[in-house]
Amino acid sequence: MEKICVAIRLRPPTKQNVVRGHHWKVSDNSISLLSAAGSVVSGHTFAFDTIFGADAKNINIYEQHAKDVVLSAVAGFNGTVFAYGQTSSGKTYTMRGSESEPGITRLAVNEIFRHIQKASDREYLIRVSYMEIYNEEINDLLTPDSRKLQVHENLEKGVFVAGLREEIVDSVEQVLGLLEAGEVQRHFGETNMNINSSRSHSIFRMVIESRSKCHGGQGSDDVDAVRVSELNLVDLAGSERIAKTGAGGVRLKEGGHINKSLMCLGNVINKLCEGGAKQGAHIPYRDSKLTRILQTALGGNARTAIICTMTPDEEQIDESRGTLQFASRAK
Ligand code: ADP
Ligand code: MG
Repeated sequence: MEKICVAIRLRPPTKQNVVRGHHWKVSDNSISLLSAAGSVVSGHTFAFDTIFGADAKNINIYEQHAKDVVLSAVAGFNGTVFAYGQTSSGKTYTMRGSESEPGITRLAVNEIFRHIQKASDREYLIRVSYMEIYNEEINDLLTPDSRKLQVHENLEKGVFVAGLREEIVDSVEQVLGLLEAGEVQRHFGETNMNINSSRSHSIFRMVIESRSKCHGGQGSDDVDAVRVSELNLVDLAGSERIAKTGAGGVRLKEGGHINKSLMCLGNVINKLCEGGAKQGAHIPYRDSKLTRILQTALGGNARTAIICTMTPDEEQIDESRGTLQFASRAK
């Protein structure tokens, strides 16, 4: 099993019946930019293991791309699933979904509870937290006014966000309630591109602790007697360049920070894909809040699934190319 898997999701067009100029075409494992006349624009073919087209549903993406990471988190390995792409490319649609089409997060929560409820040999304790990074500041989405939290590290806990609320949960409904409450707290900014574009990264985390039920027996000496793992489900802020959004002032600052976090994430993923961790190379986790928070669940034994979302809209070709380049660096 690959440690880091990347998939592309090409959403349906936002406008119907537009005259087709340059356009993206998916064939099997590659996506190419074609001219209006239908010829491939040179240097614009990108190959990936998995490409989801406009007809793909969240459940398909979950089953084929995210489920393994979720199941391995239940089995004791850290994991991260994140959606990367410009504003309006479908990140939130993919991670959160809608009432009629649950996203990766809801599907993962269902899966985890289904799994632990039928497990007869282990008992589980699940804790959830929900935070956002906005302007390189960490805010607790489960506790309004709990802002500017700091990342610390010690031997006992590893890397952790000090003061972050962790809620012990024992049902899907309880988790969904917390997700909903946290959503309300998220920061939204207005840009020319999308009046409701989210300018923050959100990280929904589930910590899964389990213990073998055979106490006192041979099982208690087993290193596997207690397992703790975390699963991070991340909805990143838009990856668009700020120049294009016509942003200035505060927005510019936000954009700068957001791009810094995204750039660091790209660098970390890139280093990991080059096998840096194995060779003992420096992985720049400390360069941004995002990579620091995800540190224990990126690299090492952790599993990561990346969903790069893009739109077929012709005006967004530059951004889509940027997303494909990010995805290519993560292979
Ligand atoms: P992002 O979070 O990347 O800014 P959204 O997920 O909010 O983008 O998507 C923008 C809009 O497009 C939303 O109204 C969403 O419902 C719609 N949308 C995105 N992806 C799809 C899809 N695959 N199928 C149908 N509608 C989609
Ligand atoms: Mg969004």
